[in-house]
Amino acid sequence: MGSSIQIKKDQKSLHKWYLENKRPLPWRANRNPYFIWISETMLQQTTTTAVIPFFKNFITKFPTLKKLAQAPQEEVIEAWAGLGYYSRARNLHKAAKALALLKTFPKTYKELIEYSGFGPYTSRSVSSIAFDEPVGVLDGNVIRILSRKHNLALSWWKTKERNTLQSLADEYVQGLKSSEVNQALMELGATICKPKNPSCLLCPWLNSCQAKKKNTIEQLPLKKAKPAKKIMLWEVYRPSKSSKKILLIKNNYTPFLKNQWLLPGLIKEVKTRPKSYDCVHHITNYDIYVQIRSKTLSQIETFSKKSEIIKVDPTEIKKFAPSSVLQKILDH
Ligand code: SF4
Repeated sequence: MGSSIQIKKDQKSLHKWYLENKRPLPWRANRNPYFIWISETMLQQTTTTAVIPFFKNFITKFPTLKKLAQAPQEEVIEAWAGLGYYSRARNLHKAAKALALLKTFPKTYKELIEYSGFGPYTSRSVSSIAFDEPVGVLDGNVIRILSRKHNLALSWWKTKERNTLQSLADEYVQGLKSSEVNQALMELGATICKPKNPSCLLCPWLNSCQAKKKNTIEQLPLKKAKPAKKIMLWEVYRPSKSSKKILLIKNNYTPFLKNQWLLPGLIKEVKTRPKSYDCVHHITNYDIYVQIRSKTLSQIETFSKKSEIIKVDPTEIKKFAPSSVLQKILDH
């Protein structure tokens, strides 16, 4: 890997590049740890451009940690609607309730990682960006940049090899403001060292990048093999159009959207795509073929008698069940 002297040089050129090129993102307006935490949680699995309107809307609704902690969960889920991965919103709310009991916001990643939804990435990004704790962060962007910069063909999804990258990321933030160096790495990955066709000519590391020298950019970082998707056939019970209420159950029957409010139904894994279906929905590990069955509310209630149920007004559905697959079914 690189010598300490080289890393210091690269750290400085990266830092300079960042100060000259950083985008004016709304969560960079100040160093409020609450705002940084919200933005970093939203940015997981979602692009910066897509997050901006959600972030603005969320902090308008919940301008302080206290306001978020005091809000009913349905309101938090509703404000999250469209971002997906709703467990993040539930964890965020749970952590807000615990953090609001403290006198001050925790300043180190070791303290933060104890709270719901604070994994290694979020804890480190919040402690470094808000409080300059000298810890590196490792997201997809940083994994890509460091793998290329140091020409490392690592199985980064395995703990030991990921730790190698983590140590390297930690080294880059020593001696300069870690808030800026970490954001510089993320920014370089998002705007220059992109997965495909990186803009190497604009990169502050053009002359020291090992993958550029060895012509291995296209192969790095290594790609984790994706497990084959399962094909699911989902027969779902929707009340007839004339019904004034929609019945939802606390989901205990599908392998996705677990413990969330969902339309009742039956699901099974099948080998091939069914010949007839009403709509299809793709999520990380599943291709879900939906067959919609229109029933009366009392028929659905009888079917769901063993589950925890709620009946909601169709206009309020997003508060309880914001997932896009549900919207797709109800719009069908
Ligand atoms: S020179 Fe190219 S491949 Fe290397 S870090 Fe910069 S953008 Fe990425």
